[in-house]
Amino acid sequence: MLRHKYIKWFFIALLIFLWYAYFSGKLPLFLIFIAILFWLGITAWGSFDIRLNYFVKANSSNKKFNRNVVALTFDDGPTEVTSEILNLLEKYNQRATFFFIGKQIEKYPEILKNIVGQGHTIANHTYSHTNKMGFLSKKEVDNEIASTQNIIQQITGKIPNLFRPPFGVTNPNIAWACKENRVEVIGWNVRSLDTVITSEDKILSRILDRFEKGSIILLHDTSTKTLNVLERLLITMEKKQIQSVTVDELLNIKAYK
Ligand SMILES: [Zn+2]
Repeated sequence: MLRHKYIKWFFIALLIFLWYAYFSGKLPLFLIFIAILFWLGITAWGSFDIRLNYFVKANSSNKKFNRNVVALTFDDGPTEVTSEILNLLEKYNQRATFFFIGKQIEKYPEILKNIVGQGHTIANHTYSHTNKMGFLSKKEVDNEIASTQNIIQQITGKIPNLFRPPFGVTNPNIAWACKENRVEVIGWNVRSLDTVITSEDKILSRILDRFEKGSIILLHDTSTKTLNVLERLLITMEKKQIQSVTVDELLNIKAYK
């Protein structure tokens, strides 16, 4: 599997070799540029596809789980929709994991108080969810994670063990800050694209097409569109006798420190 630390040394060695060959007059210069472009391409791909585990080991599914389960996950809350999502989950007796944004928690702190008691898991999704996530310094990423850990601890008394980087972006600074905060990085293997696709039918069929035992499904508790899709998904799951468990249960890891 591709790993940043191995690929880096491979390309450094390759470039030294190509440079030497170029100066010996045995190689045209453009081949060096092609090698650099290729390296940049792999790095960009590794940054934006969390499932590659390029910079950090991200847990994105558990297909070996011994029961017919998936893990529904909701990002970017809490919002005014979150309590309705919770009502639906309760109605269909399903558990989920919520990757909350620190500054959203400050707007809706009350929502967090009951979530843990209802059997769901609260996890960290940075403080600001900035679009510049891939360009923050080590210290800035550390602040994003640590401040949200503090906010969640103040309200629930619990310090999350699970973290999901916004947009699934990873890089060496994010990897460093995850280590520093001792959090497990959680990805997904089913992306609903519920913030991008407008048609509820299409979102639902997209999820169901990719749905398999042990999947981690990425949704967002930010719109009534997702709420509508969720009810239809939960009805289908009930018919097929598929249970949703929290990510920590699916992966057999701790939800809190
Ligand atoms: Zn997000």
